[in-house]
Amino acid sequence: MNRYGNDPLPGLPAHVTICEVGPRDGLQNESEAVPTDVKAELVERLADAGHTVIETTSLVHPKWVPQLADAEELLRRVDRRPGVRYPVLVPNLRGLDRALDLGVEDIAVFGSATESFAKANLNRSVAESLEMFAPVVARAREAGMRVRGYLSMCWGDPWEGEVPVARVVSVATRMLRLGCTELSLGDTIGVATPGRVTALLDALGAAGVSVDRLAVHFHDTYGQALSNTLTALQHGVTTVDASAGGLGGCPYARSATGNLATEDLLWQLAGLGIHTGVDLDRLAETSAWLADRLGRPSPSRTVRALTAT
Ligand code: MG
Repeated sequence: MNRYGNDPLPGLPAHVTICEVGPRDGLQNESEAVPTDVKAELVERLADAGHTVIETTSLVHPKWVPQLADAEELLRRVDRRPGVRYPVLVPNLRGLDRALDLGVEDIAVFGSATESFAKANLNRSVAESLEMFAPVVARAREAGMRVRGYLSMCWGDPWEGEVPVARVVSVATRMLRLGCTELSLGDTIGVATPGRVTALLDALGAAGVSVDRLAVHFHDTYGQALSNTLTALQHGVTTVDASAGGLGGCPYARSATGNLATEDLLWQLAGLGIHTGVDLDRLAETSAWLADRLGRPSPSRTVRALTAT
């Protein structure tokens, strides 16, 4: 796992599932448009490295996300393997129909804890966005799909500042009641710190939310993503979102650093003796390969350290 040794800490899970969001959340937030064949190779390489959950693309209208306008072609091209899940972001019933036609088995819907971001990103109030998801989630579940819910701005919002824990709990529990099988708590602008993570996870637990249904999605904008991840693991979270090579800047924080890099996460988990099934060296090679195609170095320190020549 790690030739410098590994030692566990008490109270941590033996296994963590990584939800690899690079092809969707990462590439969506890159300014460079990436050719479909490079995306397809990326997804294949991520599976080769041992990833079992690879968020592949988004069926949002290309007007909103031009970087992922080739979603259908990509889904036709990727050789989806047994034992690997390839969730696709779906905004509405039309997107769900397209997903079903393309043989997609896992979808994700995208929500916001704050009114400002709901308005900016979804052009709806929080309540209206939940109304929009309700039939999507219901029909997807009827079709036997898994539905991941994303909840953005759980710890801070660029317009509103601090987001009250009670408000996040209120939206989170509504999304789970709609039928989301899993809810990913997003620190969209990367401002959370470990005590704030604890406060939200404790409050969700007190509201009756099982930690098994939660994932965490931290951004490294202020260098806090790994501290926050460790805190979440100590609270029983076992699904962590990360992006290969730290793909995807943060469009709301004017920083090159957005998503937690999967390699940085893997370095920590390997050192703690936590199993993920993902091969760090193979993944770092893939991120270095993609960085060449994007024409800029990976922001991941681990990728840089492992691939330095
Ligand atoms: Mg992200």
